[in-house]
Amino acid sequence: MDKNYDVIIVGGGPAGLYAAYKIEKSYKVILFEKDDVIGEPIICAEGISNNTLKQFFKESDLPFIRNRFSKLKVKYKDLEANVDIPDMGLIIDRSKFEKYIADKVKKENNFEIKTGSFVVDAKVEDEQVKVILENGEEYFGKILIIADGVESYLPNKVGINSVCNLIDMYSCYQQVIHDPKVKDEEIIFDFTPSVAPGGYLWVFPRGNNEANFGLGITSSLDCEKPYKLLNEYRKKNYPDAKILREFPGCVSVNQLSRMYTDRVMVIGDSARAADPITGGGIDNALRTANFAAIVANSVLKGKDFSAKRMSQYQELVEKDNSYSIKKQNQLREMILKMSEEELDQFFTSAINLFNGKKILSTDFYSTIYSFKSSFKAIGMVINFMGSLMKDKYLLKIIMRLMWK
Ligand SMILES: Cc1cc2nc3c(=O)[nH]c(=O)nc-3n(C[C@H](O)[C@H](O)[C@H](O)COP(=O)(O)OP(=O)(O)OC[C@H]3O[C@@H](n4cnc5c(N)ncnc54)[C@H](O)[C@@H]3O)c2cc1C
Repeated sequence: MDKNYDVIIVGGGPAGLYAAYKIEKSYKVILFEKDDVIGEPIICAEGISNNTLKQFFKESDLPFIRNRFSKLKVKYKDLEANVDIPDMGLIIDRSKFEKYIADKVKKENNFEIKTGSFVVDAKVEDEQVKVILENGEEYFGKILIIADGVESYLPNKVGINSVCNLIDMYSCYQQVIHDPKVKDEEIIFDFTPSVAPGGYLWVFPRGNNEANFGLGITSSLDCEKPYKLLNEYRKKNYPDAKILREFPGCVSVNQLSRMYTDRVMVIGDSARAADPITGGGIDNALRTANFAAIVANSVLKGKDFSAKRMSQYQELVEKDNSYSIKKQNQLREMILKMSEEELDQFFTSAINLFNGKKILSTDFYSTIYSFKSSFKAIGMVINFMGSLMKDKYLLKIIMRLMWK
C-alpha cells in the first residue's frame, strides 16, 4: 500500500476537517483522527456567529443548526445589560457539524479519513514529513498540517514550541440542562468574579428549554473548582434543572508565536487560536484552516517547502483584519491585571454602554481595531466613539488597545 501523500492532516475536529475540505481535489490527502467516530465525543458549548457560518459555508440549508438566539444578557454582580442581537448567534450540533464536513471531505474531495488512528510522533526530514501511528505504521507527506486540538503535543515534536502556561488555560465544566427557565432566544454571560474567577459562566440555549450551561475560569491547581462553582450556581439559579450530560474541558489561548516550520503548519486550538476573551475557537479553527489550505494549495505547485515559504500562512492569519486574536489577548491581559475595583468600573461602564442597545455586527472589535487603516466603517466607529466620550474610563481602555 502506498503511504506517500501530498498532505497529511492530524486531527479530525473543525480545524483539521475544514483544512481537508479546502485542499484542492487533485492532491492526495489523508487525515488521521484518534477517536473512533468523527464528531464524538463533543466537549463544547456549540455557540457560533451567523456571520462565521455564512463566511465558511455557502449552502443555505445547513443541517447542523440547533437554535438561533436574538438576545444577549451580560451579568456582572448585581448589574445586567440586555442587548438585542438579531440574526447574530447560533447554537449548532457539533457532532452533526463535524460529520457534515467529513462527508464533504470524503465524497466531494475523495480524501481518506482514518479514524481510530492515534499519531504518536512526527518528524520533518529532508524531502518529506513522516508521521508514526500508535500501531507503528509510518506515513509520508510533502506537507503536514497539525490540528490536534487543545491537547496538542505534535508541534513540539517538529520543533515548534507550543507549551502552554497555566495562565493561558481556561479550566471548564459544562452541563447540558433542561429547565423551563431557560429562554430559547437568550444567551447569557455572567462575568461576576465570585461566579467564574478570571473567566465567565455561560447559558447557551439549544432550543426546547435545553441549554449548554457551563463555566470557564483561568486555570488554577484546584481542578475541582469549575465543577464546584457551576453546581453552586445551578442550585441557586436553576434548582429544578435536569442534567442531561456533563463533562470537564479546557481551552488554551495566547496564539503560538510561530505557527509553522519547514513543511508544517499548525492550526486551530493546536495553534492556541481560540478567542482569548470568549474562549470560542470554532471560528478561528475554520479561519486558520482556510489559510493553511490556501498556502498548501499554492506551495504544492512548486518545490519550496521551506519555513520561509510556510510563513505565508502566519502572515495571512495575522493580516486578517476581520478578527484580531492579538488584540483580544491584549484586552485579556489588561483585564487579568485589574483589581476588583477596576473590574467593577470596567464592567459598570461596559454594561451602561450596551444596555438596551441593538448590535448588528459580530465584527464589532475588528471594526474598532481596523479604525487606523479602514474608512469603510467610519460612521459606526464615530457613533460608538460618541457614546464612549461620555465614559472616559472605557474610552481610555479602547485607546490603549488601539494604539498598542
Ligand atoms: C467546555 C468548552 C466549551 C466550548 N464552547 C465553545 C463555543 O461555544 N464556541 C466555540 O467557538 N468554541 C467553544 N469551545 C472551543 C472549541 O471547542 C475549540 O476551539 C474547537 O473545538 C477547536 O477545534 P480544533 O479542530 O482546533 O480542535 P478539536 O476540536 O479539539 O479537534 C482536535 C481533534 O484532534 C484529535 N487528535 C488529538 N490528538 C491527536 C493525535 N495525536 N492523533 C490523531 N488525532 C488526534 C482529537 O481527538 C480531536 O478530534 C469550547 C471549549 C470547551 C472546552
